[in-house]
Amino acid sequence: MSIQQNLNHYRQLLPPKVTLVAVTKTKPVEDIKEAYDAGQRIFGENKAQDMAAKYPLLPLDIEWHFIGHLQTNKVKTIASFVKLIHAIDSLKLLSEINKQAAENQRVIDCLLQFHIAEEETKFGLNYDEAREILSSETFKKMENIRLTGVMGMASLTDDTKQVAREFDQLSSIYHQLKSGFFPSSESFKELSMGMSDDFQIAIKAGSTLIRIGTGIFGKRNY
Ligand SMILES: *Cc1c(COP(=O)(O)O)cnc(C)c1O
Repeated sequence: MSIQQNLNHYRQLLPPKVTLVAVTKTKPVEDIKEAYDAGQRIFGENKAQDMAAKYPLLPLDIEWHFIGHLQTNKVKTIASFVKLIHAIDSLKLLSEINKQAAENQRVIDCLLQFHIAEEETKFGLNYDEAREILSSETFKKMENIRLTGVMGMASLTDDTKQVAREFDQLSSIYHQLKSGFFPSSESFKELSMGMSDDFQIAIKAGSTLIRIGTGIFGKRNY
């Protein structure tokens, strides 16, 4: 199936409240162009240098989402244009984004990434770490960051019950943070969870942003 057909397939499946992030990591600009021509405007990359290389070659109304682990020394390369950074896992990273956003006279939207999977290797915070960040004076002084929600990745397993439990856990973290730290914020509303293999489980658990790569662009060649 073509990229356009795949996109149409997802559009038909997704409830109106769920936004599709087309994950283009490792994929060439031509593929992104094809998705753009089919109406897609939100794209996700997980390497700062790749995103910075593709950005000037594509239309300016694209919303670029950074979805991977972001090293502090790479923030500078994407700070002038990135729309949403999905994977905040430390106060240090948030501080650097705040600084670079200020230099570009922007406010950058960010999501806190939580570790919900069994695997040790996945990045992310636990609830107490997030609370510590949100309670810190350093965070409260940041003027160029807007936290708009949370993100997480479930375990890579065929056990759909486990995946559902992990997404439910992220959803409950989101609701706790919302009531504890953002009770009157309209912008703290995103639950970024679900990929090609588990997005339907994620949507049942309340996802608002699904991140689909393989399902749209086919397998990746590394
Ligand atoms: C690669 C990636 C995706 C997309 O994964 P697919 O299985 O190809 O849909 C989603 N989220 C993150 C964080 C990724 O790195």
